[in-house]
Amino acid sequence: MAKPSAPILFFNSLSRTIEPFTPIDPERVRLYSCGPTVYNFAHLGNLRAYVFTDSLRRMLNWKSYPVNHVINITDVGHLTSDTDTGDDKMEAAANRAKKTIWDIAHFYTEAFWQDLKNLNIFNPTIWSIATDHIEDMIAFARKIEAAGFTYLLDSGLYFDTSRLKDYGLLAGHREEEGVGRIDTVAGKKHPADFALWRRSAEGEKRQMEWISPWGLGAPGWHLECSVMSMKYLGEQFDIHTGGIDHREIHHCNEIAQNQAFTGDDKKTGANFWLHNNFLVDRSGKMSKSKGSFLTLSTLIEAGIHPLAYRVLCLSAHYRSELEFSQDNILAALTRLKRLVIGVGQLKKKIQKKTGSETEPDWLRAFDERSYSKGAPLDYQRELIETPLKKEALAILERFDQAVSNDLMLPQALPLLEETLGNKKLQPEEQLRLIASMDMILGLNLLHLDRASLNMRPKNASLLENNVLALLEERQIKRKEKDFAASDAIRDRLSEAGIDVLDGDPLGWEWRPQWNA
Ligand code: AMP
Ligand code: ZN
Repeated sequence: MAKPSAPILFFNSLSRTIEPFTPIDPERVRLYSCGPTVYNFAHLGNLRAYVFTDSLRRMLNWKSYPVNHVINITDVGHLTSDTDTGDDKMEAAANRAKKTIWDIAHFYTEAFWQDLKNLNIFNPTIWSIATDHIEDMIAFARKIEAAGFTYLLDSGLYFDTSRLKDYGLLAGHREEEGVGRIDTVAGKKHPADFALWRRSAEGEKRQMEWISPWGLGAPGWHLECSVMSMKYLGEQFDIHTGGIDHREIHHCNEIAQNQAFTGDDKKTGANFWLHNNFLVDRSGKMSKSKGSFLTLSTLIEAGIHPLAYRVLCLSAHYRSELEFSQDNILAALTRLKRLVIGVGQLKKKIQKKTGSETEPDWLRAFDERSYSKGAPLDYQRELIETPLKKEALAILERFDQAVSNDLMLPQALPLLEETLGNKKLQPEEQLRLIASMDMILGLNLLHLDRASLNMRPKNASLLENNVLALLEERQIKRKEKDFAASDAIRDRLSEAGIDVLDGDPLGWEWRPQWNA
């Protein structure tokens, strides 16, 4: 396929409608994603937000756009409450752990990056760290102050939201029409007003505080995203992403700051605001403040390959809630295993046909690392797709339609399975199609093998070799019709946390049980 030609459509939270997307600069898409507050491990819900932005950026690259992608790391300023009261989340975590904030930030940032790596998420062009931009934030707030959008209280410098005629547009309503916020800061003129600078209280010693025109203190959380997005992507860029919880307050406040800074109501920061919906479990939205939550390590320690979680994310549209459950994640793992086995079988067929043990040239040359830098994928994509004929191209066109239509990945994902099962295609054509689609889906299908998916839980009583030996013994007993012995082996495996799968068409013999 030359350039994938389906028009790109996105649901823009600003207009609450589907809009055609064209970048401001035709040569480059500028994308900003709200990053994590690094006071704890990222939970699976947080990671859904980054699988979404990674898929978005991969889709744009696949559609031949280079992407400048910025993600921030919040290591200061995010309070335990959205009402400008409570402790700074970082400060509170450091005090609890009796560590410095810097240690806490470093530790959880590294853990977050490891999670992204395990999910095959590319690094953005820039990781921007909030505490590296304090001077920029002060300068930004000074300009807003000079433009008359602020007032000063003992507790700090506040943004006066009544100065903007369309404050809260992104939330779908004006603030006085009922944003559920509580005015808990003494002296605030309006419930929605928010801190640009939080002045340290008399006698209070914070670990992180900076001198500013408004006294010793720390920036308000919303400031960092306005400042860093504008610094790296310009006053008006293309797409801003975040979880749907940010649509009501954080992003409304970012927009207010951007409009006040530029003096232009139209300069909301980004033309498109895209929000992913929540990952939920039976008890509701997964959240860090609930205390116990599921992380990617929880899955890995239970013997579930992290990319099974990526499959789960791809199986729901980003604007729908996604339910996490034991059944769902195990089904996603099975789906991944089937794909990996299917790709392995294709590779074998190709080798048999060519009589060569080595992989075809195009496959060896195909290298994720070379396109993980945000460059467009057209060169690699075209290399892979050039020999494809009508039948195969028709599948790619459907894939293009799905991914271009507000990133309909749940429609795109089954095309992998359809391709694997398509008898009209040659094995090499099938593999080429899968390589192209996986550039967006990011499941590392060309490199994962069956063995790497067979992970054992951290506290497993049986190692993989023992499992395989027992399964083999069980097959022998079944052939000998010694069902009592074969059932006993099945029970033993079950006690060790393993479900035996009989008659799996792809020859997958077992899967881990999992009880979170
Ligand atoms: P935080 O570290 O809390 O600032 O959140 C990082 C990202 O995760 C933000 O974009 C949040 O909106 C998003 N997020 C938080 N909880 C969930 C959830 N349960 N499901 C999906 N995204 C979430
Ligand atoms: Zn943000």
